[in-house]
Amino acid sequence: MLQQPILPEHGLFIDGAYVPATSGRMFEKISPVSGSVIAKVHEAGREDVDRAVRAAKAALSGPWGKMTVVERAGLLQDLSRAINDRFDDFLEAEIADTGKPRSLARMVDIPRGGANFATFADMIKNLGAEFFETATPDGGRAINYGVHRPKGVIAVISPWNLPLLLMTWKVGPAMACGNTVVVKPSEITPHTATLLGEVMNAVGIPKGVYNVIHGFGPNSAGEFLTQHPLVDGITFTGETRTGEAIMKQAAVGLRDISFELGGKNAAIVFADADLDKAVAGTMQSAFSNCGQVCLGTERVYVERSVYGEFVSRLKKGAEGLVLGGPDTPGVSMGPLVSEEHRDKVLSYYRLAEEEGATVVTGGGVPQFGDERDGGFFIQPTIWTGLPDTSPIIREEIFGPCCHIRPFDSEEEVIALANDSDYGLCSAIWTENLSRAHRVAPQIEVGLVWVNSWFLRDLRTAFGGSKKSGIGREGGEHSLEFYTERANICVKL
Ligand code: NAD
Repeated sequence: MLQQPILPEHGLFIDGAYVPATSGRMFEKISPVSGSVIAKVHEAGREDVDRAVRAAKAALSGPWGKMTVVERAGLLQDLSRAINDRFDDFLEAEIADTGKPRSLARMVDIPRGGANFATFADMIKNLGAEFFETATPDGGRAINYGVHRPKGVIAVISPWNLPLLLMTWKVGPAMACGNTVVVKPSEITPHTATLLGEVMNAVGIPKGVYNVIHGFGPNSAGEFLTQHPLVDGITFTGETRTGEAIMKQAAVGLRDISFELGGKNAAIVFADADLDKAVAGTMQSAFSNCGQVCLGTERVYVERSVYGEFVSRLKKGAEGLVLGGPDTPGVSMGPLVSEEHRDKVLSYYRLAEEEGATVVTGGGVPQFGDERDGGFFIQPTIWTGLPDTSPIIREEIFGPCCHIRPFDSEEEVIALANDSDYGLCSAIWTENLSRAHRVAPQIEVGLVWVNSWFLRDLRTAFGGSKKSGIGREGGEHSLEFYTERANICVKL
């Protein structure tokens, strides 16, 4: 067996305790690696969501609300350390949720879970305030200074692709700013959010500060949460269409939103790039986490003189990937997260062929002849030859696949990269410093990497333009969203 059930039944985590859902409904968590049921999860009904939100509201005026910033930051540092102390438990939970290679979760997801609390604990302690001295009409003076108050109860709606990392990316700054949270993790990945409840209790986070409700989106926990009138802000990471639905829900009561949405990201490889680095970086950006990364590359533009060589080197790289479960020796790519998601990605694989793509490699489901055949594996796939209007070039697929197209000039490739409804990120590969600085600001996205991908400093702005998001998180941008500023004016 590739995966052991570690938490056979997930209750909700409300007001510091694991409780069953009063809805009486449960749903199954399926292993992406074997296709078997590995956990049963309580589905929160409207009443459960109401209890969670009310617990979060009450906690705002309890011991949590009375703590000094330094005390709160200290607790979050404890939390960060406690996540690291339980590293192996989080690792098991993460790979049970996603089926990703253990090495990947060990290197990326779990360390970031802890870092998301430590970083914002530091930031909140160092947050200064603006100050202005003002001349008053009577010839006197007033001083103005700003304070940051917590926004209140924050609804955190997170996706399944990097469940712990993306959930704590929101919970960390929200709690650092003194808010309380109700988290609705993806129904596909319930483990890590549930486990985090235990750690919150262990380090003494007051009850009601962190709550978890499980369930689906429409007409389920997600919708009930975003509709709840006591929710003060909604932070969401997921699909653009879901963002549109949540925005309508947030409009009632004028709740603030922060959205991190889909992408259709371009990598641009100039002829003067270090091709070894460009191929290695594109292998990572197209295929890591089985292509289920919002920042992943699905469009690759390569300058014509190196196009042929790049295509054959990326093909070789893709064909060298080792597909398998978290602990398969040498594994470099796990399965897609669910059967439903694999059906979606496969529908694009079929469409690419119908549209006349040249399938450079992949295009289907691998056959292993062992228990992996029960999982949701898919071949890494590269296409060429599609028109720029094809849905393969325009829509987010969220699988291990990319289309490669040649270009002839800087001007042309900037236009190609920008010809998208999305605007999340881009990677530029060139050894020409002037070109890098000239091109990067012209790409209409929230993040540009030059000769790298996925490098993150948590103090920097993160988010997308166009249909890739609303607002920015990261560093002071997170603090901006998770707080209400007030100006205090004192007449002297
Ligand atoms: P999704 O939109 O299907 O679901 C995300 C979450 O929203 C889940 O918890 C789901 O239950 C909930 N939800 C769905 N409908 C809802 C509704 N009407 N009201 C309230 N909640 C609702 O996304 P997914 O399939 O879990 O994740 C993949 C998507 O996330 C991709 O589009 C990817 O690009 C995007 N993503 C973006 C970023 C980013 O930072 N920009 C990061 C990771 C993933």
